[in-house]
Amino acid sequence: MDYRSILEEISEEIQPLFGKGKVADYIPALAEVDPRGFAMSVTMLDGSRYTIGDAKKRFSIQSISKVFAFTLALREYSKALYSRVGVEPSGDPFNSLVQLEHEEGKPRNPFINAGAIVVVDALRKVYGDDTRTFENILSFICEIADDDSISSDEQVASSELEHGYRNLALASLMKSFGNFDYEPVDILEIYFRQCAITMNVEELSRAMLYLANSGTDPLTDKVFASVHQTRRTNAVMLTCGHYDASGEFAFDVGLPGKSGVGGGIVAVVPGKMAIAVWSPELNERGNSLIGTKALELFTTKTGLSIF
Ligand code: GLN
Repeated sequence: MDYRSILEEISEEIQPLFGKGKVADYIPALAEVDPRGFAMSVTMLDGSRYTIGDAKKRFSIQSISKVFAFTLALREYSKALYSRVGVEPSGDPFNSLVQLEHEEGKPRNPFINAGAIVVVDALRKVYGDDTRTFENILSFICEIADDDSISSDEQVASSELEHGYRNLALASLMKSFGNFDYEPVDILEIYFRQCAITMNVEELSRAMLYLANSGTDPLTDKVFASVHQTRRTNAVMLTCGHYDASGEFAFDVGLPGKSGVGGGIVAVVPGKMAIAVWSPELNERGNSLIGTKALELFTTKTGLSIF
């Protein structure tokens, strides 16, 4: 398959879509990115790579980090994690409060904000203090990406902390229902630093290889998840990775994927490759508008799909 030409065609075909979405501005520091950014990278299981656009430009991975934190928490807790967070699509926006009240503080899944925040609370219990918890999350991501230079943008993290009232409400609600061990604001500080980690599409597509290879990194042979955990993580990405647009993403793209409000999306083709795309303008559901289209074009042109 001529992936290079396919990426070039995609990069041409998405051009008319610039200006149709909107950069996330509820985190003020995120609103400063260039809305016209675009990059895409495909990394095969043997490490060979095809890229187009600004593939070296790091951006805020935001909710994509939830996949790595979930993998880490599954490692530590195995099935016991599911007593605190479910695996059902929410059908609601990523930061919705309504369902959490009805369902007594147990978030539907680990990829909506409430679920990801509870995952951090669970990790805090394992690692003993706030700093060590963040350091463990970061070093796990560095290990998965096989790159020690990955770090968090403290300016984005503190900008989000300053404006993070909705997430604070989610954490406080969970605390009121007894599904939270620590102080909401302390856990949020860790969670925002986790979301503010910056990576580029090359690094992200490389990092996701373990999910395309039954939990084992095909390049380093490190085992990050069991075969079963990997299948389940991919299943949750497929059903919940794009919040209330997860059905549409499965319909249009046909791959497990996870988006972030920084404009990144990762997707996995089990047994073959991992893909990352970035373009900061979001659709009304909070997912990269051009990123989603680029992935749809990619699976249409290549015929790749899990179905
Ligand atoms: N840090 C963001 C938040 O908590 C992540 C949301 C996202 O990427 N969808 O609102």
